Amino acid sequence: MNSVYKKLSSCGRYLLASAALVLVMAPVGAQVQNKPDTGSATPVVRRIAITIDDLPFETRRLKLADEQRATKAILAALQAHKVKALGFVNEDRLLVKGEVDARIGMLESWLDAGMELGNHNFGHLGFHGSSLAKYQEAVLRGDTFTRWLMQERKQVPRYYRYPHNQTGDNAEVQKQFEDFLQQHDYKIAPFTIEHDDFTYARVYEDAVLKNRKEDAERLRKAYLANLDRAVNTFETMSDEMFGRQVSHILNIHASLLNADMLDKMLSKLEQRGYQFITLEEALQDPAYLLPAGPSRQYGMSWLARWARMAKKRLSVYGQPDPEEWVIKWDQELAR
Ligand SMILES: [Zn+2]
Repeated sequence: MNSVYKKLSSCGRYLLASAALVLVMAPVGAQVQNKPDTGSATPVVRRIAITIDDLPFETRRLKLADEQRATKAILAALQAHKVKALGFVNEDRLLVKGEVDARIGMLESWLDAGMELGNHNFGHLGFHGSSLAKYQEAVLRGDTFTRWLMQERKQVPRYYRYPHNQTGDNAEVQKQFEDFLQQHDYKIAPFTIEHDDFTYARVYEDAVLKNRKEDAERLRKAYLANLDRAVNTFETMSDEMFGRQVSHILNIHASLLNADMLDKMLSKLEQRGYQFITLEEALQDPAYLLPAGPSRQYGMSWLARWARMAKKRLSVYGQPDPEEWVIKWDQELAR
C-alpha cells in the first residue's frame, strides 16, 4: 500500500505530500519482489559499504555514558562482521559543556576500531534554503577535531556526506559546491539504500527511556523487517536501472536502535549474499560517475536521482514507509 507521506530523507521528519506526487513516484500496484540467491547455481555477488551519520551520536536525549555504551556496541558489531565503515561527524555535537573530551574520545574510538571518519558539516546544516557561503562555512568548520585526530594516524578526512542528502537547489549551485569540495580534497559520499532508521530510532529511544519494553521489542522486529523491504526495493531499482546490482552504500545513523540492532542487520545482509566493502571500493562502481542532479529539499537515494536524470521510469522509487503506528508515534514526538 503506498502511503501519502513524503520523506525529508535522512534525519528528517515525514511531511504530507500531494497525492499527485505520490502517484508519480510510486505507481499504484507496483510490486517489489524478493530475490534471494539461495538455490541459484551461480549466486549473484552483492556488495555494500556501510556509512553511519551524525557522529559522535545522533540524539541528545541519552546520558553520555549510555551514548558511549551504544558507540561501543555499534563498533563491536562492525568489527564482528569485519566491516570498515565510514562515520560522518557533526562536530557541533562535540560541544557539550563538561563532555567535550569524552565526546572527542568517542570519535577516537571509531578510528581505534579501524573505521574512517568523514565530514557531515558543523550544525548539520541542510543545503536547501542555505546560502552557498554559509553552507561552505559549515563544511570548513566541520572537520577541525576530525582532522586533528586523523592526522595522528596519518589520515585525512576524504568524504563529505550532505546533511538530509540535499545536494543543492539547482544545477548551478550544485556545481559550485562540488568544485568547492574538490578544492578541499573532499569526495561526495552518496548512498543507495536507506530504511528510515532515523524515524525508528527516535521512537525506539522514546520507548527505551519510558521503559516500554514490549513496544521496544515490537519496534526492533518492525525495524529489521523494514530493512528487508527497503533492500528489496532498492535492489529492484538497481536491476531496472542497470540490469545488475550496483555496489550499494547503506546510510544509517549512530543511534541506540542501531547499537541494539546492527549485528542482526549485518547478519541479514550477509544472508542476502552481501559482502562488505569500503566506501572507497563502492565508489569504484562506474554507476557513481553518472550525474545525480540537484536534490532541492528531498534527499533521495542516488538510484532515484540517476533514474530521474536519465528520465527512466522505474516501478518503484525509494523504500516503503515505516508502519503507520511508527509514523504516528514519531509525529507525536515532534509536537
Ligand atoms: Zn545527518
